[in-house]
Amino acid sequence: MKFERFCDHIHVLRTPFGAVTSAVTLVEGKEGCTLIDSGANDETVRSCILPALREFGADGRDMRRLLCTHTHGDHIGGHFMLKQLFPDMEIVVTERQAPKVADPLLYNIRIRSVYPAYSAPPSYGLRGVAADRVLMEGERVAGLVSVPAAGHDDDCVGWLHEASGTLISGDALQGGGTETQGIALYFDLDAYRKTLERMEKIGAERILAAHDFRLAGAQAESSAACRAYIDCCRAVTEEYDRILHEIGSTGTPKAAEILIERTGGKMPEYLFLAMYTVDAHYSCTNMKRKEKVSQ
Ligand SMILES: [Zn+2]
Repeated sequence: MKFERFCDHIHVLRTPFGAVTSAVTLVEGKEGCTLIDSGANDETVRSCILPALREFGADGRDMRRLLCTHTHGDHIGGHFMLKQLFPDMEIVVTERQAPKVADPLLYNIRIRSVYPAYSAPPSYGLRGVAADRVLMEGERVAGLVSVPAAGHDDDCVGWLHEASGTLISGDALQGGGTETQGIALYFDLDAYRKTLERMEKIGAERILAAHDFRLAGAQAESSAACRAYIDCCRAVTEEYDRILHEIGSTGTPKAAEILIERTGGKMPEYLFLAMYTVDAHYSCTNMKRKEKVSQ
């Protein structure tokens, strides 16, 4: 497994994460190398990231900073070990990301506590790191600027590489969700839609997403393809709205199952992520909140 060239100065390593992959992106610049996201755990660092860095010809001195697109376990699970291995590498976060990077397990447990009967066990191996640098909104770092991208979660950002017009979107643009989620995942539909608008206005020339999302894919490589990618994400939210209106009041778990079935997704082992999306639609202004089925 090695870093594949995405465009000038940007390389991507798609590390394993269960049945899907999670991207670790390497950005080369005058100020050394920047990594964005770190995969799911120590094992990813040991068996994928380190050999790939070696193959790429980068060593500890080249690794100047580590950023993340958001603080879910599949994106920051390697942060702790990478910092142990490269102590001079700066951990750079946004203000919103700082507390969750410091204690990702707490957050991982919290999002599994809303629907315990439908949730996967917490990722107890997750360890936190202290931030070396906290960016103000819009502050640039090594040719990258953070674009607020709430919706999937409140600490999501897209990293815009200005020289190439590449938007490193993490999970901010969900397409139809990953294979293992069943459907797109967002905690806040209003925020997600605003993110889609913001991303459209940026007019990126390329999109590099963290996962190979159903319907939208893992990347887009022209301005027109970027617009189509974002349109696809928007159409998905509209389709979910339509289906949820149609099926009426069935309670969150049943609605999540129907949504997955009707949109052709694979039924996940745990339903909690899809249930967050259903609730995001229920809480949105134009839909009445339905009663949740009690646990
Ligand atoms: Zn993810």
